Amino acid sequence: PHDGLSPPWYPAPKGGTDKTWEESYKKAAELVKQMTLPEKINITTGTGWSMEMCVGNNGAVPRLRFPSLCLQDGPLGIRFADNITAFPAGITVGATWNKELMYLRGKAHGKEARLKGVNVLLGPAMGPLGRMPAGGRNWEGFGSDPVLQGIAAAQTIKGIQDEGIMATAKHYLLNEQEHFRQAWEWGIPNAISSNVDDRTLHEIYAWPFADSIRAGVTSIMCSYNQVNSSYACQNSKLLNGILKDELGFQGFVQSDWLAQRAGVASALAGLDMTMPGDGLRWAKGDSLWGAELTRAILNGSVPVDRVDDMVTRVVASWYQVGQDKWDALGPNFSSWTNDRVGKLHEGSPSDTSMGVVNKFVNVQGQGKDAHGHLVRRVAAEGTVLLKNEGKVLPLNRKGRKTRRKNKRQTKYRVGVFGEDARLPHEGINHCNDQSCNDGTLASGWGSGAVNFTYLVEPMSAIRDAFDNETVYVTDWLENRLPSQKEILKDQDLCIVFANSDAGEGFEQYEGIRGDRNDLYLQKDGDRLIREVAQDCGEGKGDVVVVIHTVGPVIIENFIEITNVKAVIIAHLPGTESGNAIVDLLFGDVNPSGRLPYTIAKKEDDYGPGSKVKYLPSPTDGLSPQQNFSEGLYIDYRYFDKQDITPRYEFGYGLSYTQFKLSSLVITSKGNMNPLPAPRPSGLTPPSYSTDIPDPQSALFPPNWHKVEKYIYPWLDSTDGIKSPTTTTKKAPQVESSPPLSDAGGGSGGNPDLYTTLLTVSATVSNIGALDGATVVQLYISLPQGYKDHETGEAVDFPVRVLRGFEKVYLEAHKAEQGIGGGEGTSKEVTFEVTRRDLSYWDVRRQNWVLPQVKEGEGGFDVRVGFSSRNLPLEGKW
Ligand code: BGC
Ligand code: BGC
Repeated sequence: PHDGLSPPWYPAPKGGTDKTWEESYKKAAELVKQMTLPEKINITTGTGWSMEMCVGNNGAVPRLRFPSLCLQDGPLGIRFADNITAFPAGITVGATWNKELMYLRGKAHGKEARLKGVNVLLGPAMGPLGRMPAGGRNWEGFGSDPVLQGIAAAQTIKGIQDEGIMATAKHYLLNEQEHFRQAWEWGIPNAISSNVDDRTLHEIYAWPFADSIRAGVTSIMCSYNQVNSSYACQNSKLLNGILKDELGFQGFVQSDWLAQRAGVASALAGLDMTMPGDGLRWAKGDSLWGAELTRAILNGSVPVDRVDDMVTRVVASWYQVGQDKWDALGPNFSSWTNDRVGKLHEGSPSDTSMGVVNKFVNVQGQGKDAHGHLVRRVAAEGTVLLKNEGKVLPLNRKGRKTRRKNKRQTKYRVGVFGEDARLPHEGINHCNDQSCNDGTLASGWGSGAVNFTYLVEPMSAIRDAFDNETVYVTDWLENRLPSQKEILKDQDLCIVFANSDAGEGFEQYEGIRGDRNDLYLQKDGDRLIREVAQDCGEGKGDVVVVIHTVGPVIIENFIEITNVKAVIIAHLPGTESGNAIVDLLFGDVNPSGRLPYTIAKKEDDYGPGSKVKYLPSPTDGLSPQQNFSEGLYIDYRYFDKQDITPRYEFGYGLSYTQFKLSSLVITSKGNMNPLPAPRPSGLTPPSYSTDIPDPQSALFPPNWHKVEKYIYPWLDSTDGIKSPTTTTKKAPQVESSPPLSDAGGGSGGNPDLYTTLLTVSATVSNIGALDGATVVQLYISLPQGYKDHETGEAVDFPVRVLRGFEKVYLEAHKAEQGIGGGEGTSKEVTFEVTRRDLSYWDVRRQNWVLPQVKEGEGGFDVRVGFSSRNLPLEGKW
């Protein structure tokens, strides 16, 4: 369904059209109009890898007090820094399905960035979205569904930006696998091309970016890969067309690190900032922009107003989050050394200037505000209980009655097994960017990982939690059990830990080059679990399995073993790992995590499109092609369409209590026209003089001390610059700009797309014996067997799609209080369903279309329940 081609979309729409950005654009225009060309260029271009303190730093305009911005990863903590918090990874946050926690984690992350002097956080990630369950970086985002990703991303962005930090929605777009994401790591001439059809692009992959823009995100990072045979950072359809016109993005587009592949082309296609500034090679001191962009402006290859727009977007974003009010001190940490005093320009071979680069500011919060408390909550709520037979969980701190007849051994005996329960022997930060699977897994690897300030070991936390008067705890914290199984024989309960890791493709570990090679537990986890189950209490002991993982794992090798009573997916918990798992095992927290993806019975069940492409095929020509031929049918959409029974479906998770749903009410309101209201017209963007400045003004200032390899905006000489007026060369004026999108007109698209058309409410009750939370999920089926009334064409819709969720905490019914007549406590949950939620992207009309259902035809199916396959309430509309 893809054409492998990306249509042109020029010229780049200017920022400054949105009411919610009006003030910031006014202020930005005031500043930008005073800037010289080199000052402007300085803002668009990074100073070069490791030339300043952060992973990305652009140039400053000291004369006008516009600082160099520090851009730092993200998305689970401050990378390359000390005294910071390693928050739970995105996948864990997604698994909480808790909007408040999503916001609070973003806010705490933003606060730490603020205190470290970071201007732009390189997160949240919402691409990869999870098309391929083995994708190496899926764990940085929130799960394999656009609505879950979009809501989690928007909440995170609001949290970060409420602390005055610019957030970055990344990676735009279709960077679904690590293999071949770019050329240089993989020894191929060009990066992979992800080929997708227009409808899938809108309904799945761009969706969370629309939500991010609507949430006010100030920055978006374009990805390494090509999309429909055009690099994402110079793809005019993606940047000019979809982001800036249709989705009304007012902030700036920055490149992923070296994802910029051409200078002029990327400028015209809508890139606003190149990071880290280096050209086609790392740290060589040359750039595709910097002085080259200066030159391109002077000779007319790039219109002046394009650079003005780039800069205005960056400066407006800075005002938008209030950074003009900072006493601009810059970062107080260095990404390149842990010493107090270090090089000021680490990447420069000859520069020797030194200074205090690390001030070791502790940003983790203190006392009851310590971010560790939040980490612990998110980690516990992002843990999913898959199986709990015979109520083996929650555990009792005093143990239970031992089964053993031996009168001298009266204590309840617990054994803990597997290296995932202990810290790595060589220290918690012994691998670069956490790029090894050693000891307990609390984060994936890559630029999205951080150095742990501390890491709570599961084993110690479990040992501390049991009462040693009545419980005897032993452990064997390796994955290979001793040959004689004495250690297992006497146990009443065995807790076994195993994991599965992945990361970013610039690092690899034991043959895993970012993407996982399979979906099984790693380091012989399956075997460990089976052996423990076989001999635990001579085969009669209870086994609880805890899995730390970056994403779905196939658990068929042990899930049905009778004494494997409980299985828990603890995802990537971050710094409070041990405490969070204890909270859950002992019932201090009642499990309320839900799977943010499907767990299949076998890998093939995810469908042919779910496979990472490992080898470029010689027939592919220059770059590997990844065709997204499955279209909309990824994860649960595929299982539902093909009627494949998963092991555990998307949205699934158990609790220690029970919930019930009742009283579905569907109310429709609003206008049911097929198309949204006409696109509103926006404000007029600022404009400046379009005269090409005098080339002499772009020369290096006299006696400038050049730092070797540093990227500057100035020219050494004006040789070779021909003013466009004296040559035949014209600035590339694009003749026919495509019509503005009818789906545009506001941040996140046409505002009418967000009008509520349906209100759906239901009552949820806790009917069990314990307090706890559940996630009420709303799924909608667009009319099945639908035919477009104008064209008669059949339009295929997924069986059902997630359109909303609410996490609800409910106390258990307490008989003595006489609440609810034995029905427990209840709450009403309400979902506002928007026009976009009920529409599909019509390729022909290039707009969101609300299916028109005639009398007697199947309509919309509205279902409310506890997972994508447990939907007790059903209504038609
Ligand atoms: C990653 C980005 C990251 C950047 C800076 C790239 O390799 O893909 O996610 O923000 O590096 O570290
Ligand atoms: C850097 C990352 C970057 C990656 C790109 C690494 O050396 O640490 O930030 O994303 O290279 O390949």
